[in-house]
Amino acid sequence: MKIIDNADLTGWNTFGMRVSCACFVEYSAAEELESLWNSGGRVAGGAASASDAASLPRPFLHIGRGSNLLFMGDFPGTVFHSDIRYIEPLARPDDMGSGDRVRVKVGAGIVWDDFCRWCASCGFWGVENLSGIPGEVGAAAVQNIGAYGVEVGDVISEVECFDCVTGSKVTFKASECRYGYRDSIFKDTAKGRYVVTSVEFSLSRVPAPKLDYGHLRAAVEAAGELTPSAVREAVLSIRSSKLPDPAETGSAGSFFKNPIVPRSDYVRVASIAGLEWGESCQVPHYDAGSGFVKIPAAWLIEHCGLKGYRIGGAAVYERQPLVIVNLTGTALPEDVLAVEEHVVKSVYDKFGIRLTPEVEHV
Ligand SMILES: Cc1cc2nc3c(=O)[nH]c(=O)nc-3n(C[C@H](O)[C@H](O)[C@H](O)COP(=O)(O)OP(=O)(O)OC[C@H]3O[C@@H](n4cnc5c(N)ncnc54)[C@H](O)[C@@H]3O)c2cc1C
Repeated sequence: MKIIDNADLTGWNTFGMRVSCACFVEYSAAEELESLWNSGGRVAGGAASASDAASLPRPFLHIGRGSNLLFMGDFPGTVFHSDIRYIEPLARPDDMGSGDRVRVKVGAGIVWDDFCRWCASCGFWGVENLSGIPGEVGAAAVQNIGAYGVEVGDVISEVECFDCVTGSKVTFKASECRYGYRDSIFKDTAKGRYVVTSVEFSLSRVPAPKLDYGHLRAAVEAAGELTPSAVREAVLSIRSSKLPDPAETGSAGSFFKNPIVPRSDYVRVASIAGLEWGESCQVPHYDAGSGFVKIPAAWLIEHCGLKGYRIGGAAVYERQPLVIVNLTGTALPEDVLAVEEHVVKSVYDKFGIRLTPEVEHV
């Protein structure tokens, strides 16, 4: 276990905010976390200094790669990070033998896209549409990451956690995680209580492509083969044409959630659009059930004329207005917040719809 006091977090958030934390703890096995909680015994970067979880600065925050976080300043407490890294196909005959499904257990600290690449190379179907999403496996199960018509909750069978309240291990079936649009119990009622230590996936050996979202089918057909690798490559190529590469331009991906609104709100937006841009202007929307529809936030932001809108070092991304970027590399948290507030106000003033951030402010 590594424990570092006054650690720099610049490399631990994809927005590139220059912030630090009072203490950074990285562990490489669930048992280390358990012993830190239950029996004390702080091991500081190899040097022996006695302490336990109770003596670490509060509050606590667990991060992955910080790709969904906006740090608003230095974090006064302890940041935890998992370095639990393994990909383990479950090899019991009923798991790996005959049949269409393959169960694979993955450590929370594995980089999400490394897992996607591994699945594609094995010919396993299930996560290829989620290729290229930044972050780690543990956070993916917290966030219920989604892209191109697939959510990770669709292929998760179990999530193993460390319970910070009881100090013991607990396993959740996927149904108990209450997955919804970018949502789970780990983000909601149980926020901060459970640390995800591993995730079990149920993947398919037989072709199970999901190509009905956006231009994915055309891109895969152009590639001329239908394999998880071909779908993965198509997804990566589409993503790189739209989204900033965190290695070059700081961001946290989609800054806002796509609003799910009563159909009457959609009718109002459509009539505003018709008046302003003519009857041929179609407002994209997707049925969300029970009389609700999902409207792409990017469309609303773009139609407020906000592409490229900039305050200080932060701006609405030109190629995908759902993203706020650290344009200069030196943007301050306040710059990002100011752009966020302007976007929310503009969309509300024009369309009467209040956007909510997907990015977590810390
Ligand atoms: C360029 C870009 C593109 C993106 N595209 C997408 C996309 O297409 N779809 C999508 O869904 N998201 C997307 N995102 C958002 C982001 O990649 C996901 O939310 C991702 O799952 C965050 O992973 P992370 O490891 O960086 O987690 P962090 O941002 O560090 O943490 C996210 C949350 O998970 C919690 N957490 C992290 N690890 C653990 C753990 N082990 N146990 C318990 N809680 C934990 C944190 O406390 C926090 O609440 C994008 C981000 C960027 C920068």
